[in-house]
Amino acid sequence: MTDVAENLSNVRARIAAAEQKAGRVAGSVTLLAVSKTKSVELIEVAVAAGQRVFAESYVQEAIAKQTVLVDLPLQWHFVGPIQSNKTRLIAEHFDWVHSIDRRKIAQRLNDQRPADMQPINVLLQVNISNELSKSGSDISEIKNLLESIMKLPRLSLRGLMAIPVKTTDYAEQRQAFRCLAELKTELNETFGLSMDCLSMGMSNDMEAAIAEGATHVRVGTGIFGARDNK
Ligand SMILES: *Cc1c(COP(=O)(O)O)cnc(C)c1O
Repeated sequence: MTDVAENLSNVRARIAAAEQKAGRVAGSVTLLAVSKTKSVELIEVAVAAGQRVFAESYVQEAIAKQTVLVDLPLQWHFVGPIQSNKTRLIAEHFDWVHSIDRRKIAQRLNDQRPADMQPINVLLQVNISNELSKSGSDISEIKNLLESIMKLPRLSLRGLMAIPVKTTDYAEQRQAFRCLAELKTELNETFGLSMDCLSMGMSNDMEAAIAEGATHVRVGTGIFGARDNK
């Protein structure tokens, strides 16, 4: 059995240490517990240990869990690849979406966000590793994507997300995250925006991400243990 409460407290300690080492304000990094493939029971253990923010990657699986947990004050982030036939469910069931990588998806989320809900918080997923990774918008496309998203009133544009190619080399991890941080600064200046979020860092590279300014780290294995393949 994975000890979710103990893992959570270890992850929180790693985040606090990384914040301090980087000279950042304590508590400035939000921990997203990535609960994809994990049971409602394990999520409830995390909630009992004080966790309120969860991230999921598969729409139907996420909604099934949300339905059971509806009475708890949880915030839900969608971080998985988005098929266009799933946008309505995402617009109706999530507070945040980190994985917007094309215009069509953004337009559909905007059109399908229910009128009685706040605009949905969105981050653009950027492919900062070029041909090595297939997910995310290419850097060369990001300005066009941003220009169209800025016009969509039901989306609240909050920042950028990336999943860099895996490496255990700390300097390489930092370099990839720095690239995303610099891109956010550049886009804010170019377009007069105030994007305030950088979603970067997972179980194995959250320290490097926090050193480069991550505001949201997405941690699955480090909290819930290894996933079964899906
Ligand atoms: C699964 C997943 C994570 C969590 O990764 P771990 O290595 O288990 O911490 C983070 N971000 C995204 C987008 C994911 O799909």
